[in-house]
Amino acid sequence: MTNRRNFLKTTALATAGVAFQAFNGKSEETEIDINSGKTNKPIVLSTWNFGLQANEAAWEVLKNKGRALDAVEAGVKIPEGDPNERSVGYGGRPDREGKVTLDACIMDEFSNIGSVACLEHIKHPISVARMVMEKTPHVMLVGEGALQFALSQGFKRENLLLEASEKEWKEWLKTSEYVPKANIENHDTIGMIALDVQGNLSGACTTSGMAFKMHGRVGDSPIIGAGLYVDNEIGAATATGHGEEVIRITGCHLVVELMRQGKSPQKACEEAVMRIVKLTQNRGKNLKDIQVGFIALNKKGEYGSYCVQGGFNYAVHDAAGNKLIDANYYLKT
Ligand code: ASP
Repeated sequence: MTNRRNFLKTTALATAGVAFQAFNGKSEETEIDINSGKTNKPIVLSTWNFGLQANEAAWEVLKNKGRALDAVEAGVKIPEGDPNERSVGYGGRPDREGKVTLDACIMDEFSNIGSVACLEHIKHPISVARMVMEKTPHVMLVGEGALQFALSQGFKRENLLLEASEKEWKEWLKTSEYVPKANIENHDTIGMIALDVQGNLSGACTTSGMAFKMHGRVGDSPIIGAGLYVDNEIGAATATGHGEEVIRITGCHLVVELMRQGKSPQKACEEAVMRIVKLTQNRGKNLKDIQVGFIALNKKGEYGSYCVQGGFNYAVHDAAGNKLIDANYYLKT
């Protein structure tokens, strides 16, 4: 109780009664007055421009007073099932062996968690992750075991490698050079976090990972605490970008813990990115080659985002509508 009161007090002081969000590379004030006692709900946030369409599906659930958990699952299934989205689900880019391997996780307001990694042949890994959460005594299934479980639950085995991705992979094989670069469109993730009318938070995260990765490589997206974290008392966060860097700082757990300490979602994302910046520099690596973006939402429906360098955007849907926002970033030159 004391902690909760302190949290609200510190947040109010830290933000002078308003929340900040990144908008077109600048900091902008949202209209949420955290002293008014009002919560901006329902609300859903998701990564990248495919988030706009995904948000629409999530909004259908949220506006009908549905559960945030159902909203985020319905939302991320849109890019998962879209053959033209080549970084998530069906039609995703393969690993270096030509296999499409998918990573996904989900977390609800009760801290129930479910995850699959390196899952092949299943179009909607997020729904398998939810079944891991709801129907098994475990929290994570990988590879062949995850596939067997999915098939046992009635999921259809499908070919996920479609023509465009196969062509690109065959081209890649000519040099077989794996150099993850920032803002080269051969990876992306849909991470989605939502607050429902009941005031409960949930999140989902799903990806085909880095294109042409080693077979068996797992990124941050299916790892609770790295690619996604939800604490129903505090807030939720999700990540996109180079998964290795997000895992290194347990990114989304860090963002939520920073919000617990009283930081606004915006400031929490900024501090997590600064942690990546520092560790990258300490390790003598070039920051220009790294991209990581976080989005965060707190219990009041305030949100924020930050990334290492320009190029990352995210979609927000609340009662005011659905919009795409360019995230503010650290590396300006
Ligand atoms: N985070 C994903 C991964 O490392 C890729 C991305 O979001 O761009 O697998």
